[in-house]
Amino acid sequence: MSQKIFIAGQWREGRGDMTESRYPVDGSLNVQFRAASLEDVDEAIEAADAAWRGEWSERLPHQRAEVLYRVSRLIEEQLDELAELQSRDNGKPLAETRALVASAAGTARYVAAACETLEGELPTQRSPEFMTLSTWEPLGVIAAITPWNSPIASEMQKIAPALAGGNAVILKPAEATPLAALKLAELFEQAGLPAGLLSVLPGRGRVIGEAIVKHPKVRKISFTGGTTTGRHLAHIAADKLIGASLELGGKSPTIVCEDADIEQAVKGICYGIFSSGGQACIAGSRLFVHRSQYETVLARLVKITQGLRVGDPRTPGTHMGPLISTAHRDSVAAYVDQARAEGARILTGGCAPEDPALSKGSYYLPTIIDGLPADSRVCQEEIFGPVLVVLPYENEADLLAQANDSVFGLAAGIWTKDYRNAFKLARKLEVGTVWINTYKKFSISTPFGGYKESGLGREKGRLGIQAYMQQKSLYLGLEHTPMGWSD
Ligand code: ADP
Repeated sequence: MSQKIFIAGQWREGRGDMTESRYPVDGSLNVQFRAASLEDVDEAIEAADAAWRGEWSERLPHQRAEVLYRVSRLIEEQLDELAELQSRDNGKPLAETRALVASAAGTARYVAAACETLEGELPTQRSPEFMTLSTWEPLGVIAAITPWNSPIASEMQKIAPALAGGNAVILKPAEATPLAALKLAELFEQAGLPAGLLSVLPGRGRVIGEAIVKHPKVRKISFTGGTTTGRHLAHIAADKLIGASLELGGKSPTIVCEDADIEQAVKGICYGIFSSGGQACIAGSRLFVHRSQYETVLARLVKITQGLRVGDPRTPGTHMGPLISTAHRDSVAAYVDQARAEGARILTGGCAPEDPALSKGSYYLPTIIDGLPADSRVCQEEIFGPVLVVLPYENEADLLAQANDSVFGLAAGIWTKDYRNAFKLARKLEVGTVWINTYKKFSISTPFGGYKESGLGREKGRLGIQAYMQQKSLYLGLEHTPMGWSD
């Protein structure tokens, strides 16, 4: 199957290197095609720059919103097909990819509504000589760079507010997952988005991604991915003096307080770390349990984990599909092997499944480890796989010292029956999102982003569109007489 890419409003063969997408279940080829070249990047960005300066940024907000409403409806009409496509790209169970596709449709609708109701500001007026207004203007061409774990959802989170703000978007999807992004471009085209406002340029991050963000006409970087790449892009943004919104890695602590409902906590913890095979920036990968509940929680957690169904993502009821690739599976296994060598207890998992039917896929069993100190490598580094490290804590001071001992600050979970304590604890955790008696739940109306090395800026929420705009202040003189200064 030949796959065209979407350059400046046209479906064409890329002029770059061959690239491919493989099905993680058995390593078979989904598609092989030519990625974008540096000339394609240039052409797409020139077209994008002309397109946002054209009638798009002049369109009334509800007219821009109409395109997003239409895309949302098209996504809903093709939900199953899109979910299947995403699952072929990254091996996630269909129940999960359906939820991600539905969330992309919801994002488009929410952003459309926010766009229709976007207002400028009339700052407090103090002077009899003039009054002021502040309007929101587009930034220009936006580089959107996305990872492989939640395509469509993370892509819509960038494309929708950027377009709503009157900008154009150059999207570079992850190497492993180009299919969903290209399909999304098709839907935007069908929804009537003017040519040039969106290009989708698959290709290698270090070549094509880098050329896009470095292009002088790109005025903002919106990136989701690893912290090392994020830091590199922040340097490029600093050199160009442009903004960067960075959604990066995490090593999120989940806390089981002494008074928690253990059954509820354990099921939430299991979902928080093992759904998506732990390949989520917000995975609750460090678990802190009050010493008095430690053995009880662990025993129940291990039992539930051993009952998780690891297997074909198309089979209804599968909890965990394969990891994205064998190379990634090997990197997850290397972390666990190192922990084992350092004397950790591997309470369950710690290897690939034995089932011969799964031998061709990049599967790894859900794994629970304890017995290592909070500063060990598995407790500090983002593994991005189904590996949970567990640590006991004695009291709140000890808990906070351990939980905040991380370069990351993306999210945290608290399980307790006492909301007063939960609230106080939540305020002291150095993270951008805290889930209390729930985990990994999302609302498009609630801002999301990280503290510390987990990121910069926030996505989603009513202010999500303004993140892709800049304010312009207008002064209107109120006096009839000439200024007296030169008299
Ligand atoms: P991962 O999320 O796989 O750990 P990355 O953070 O490197 O890895 O990848 C996220 C996205 O960033 C991908 O689309 C990737 O191609 C892209 N990318 C990687 N390196 C660069 C770079 N130097 N410039 C721009 N984009 C990059």
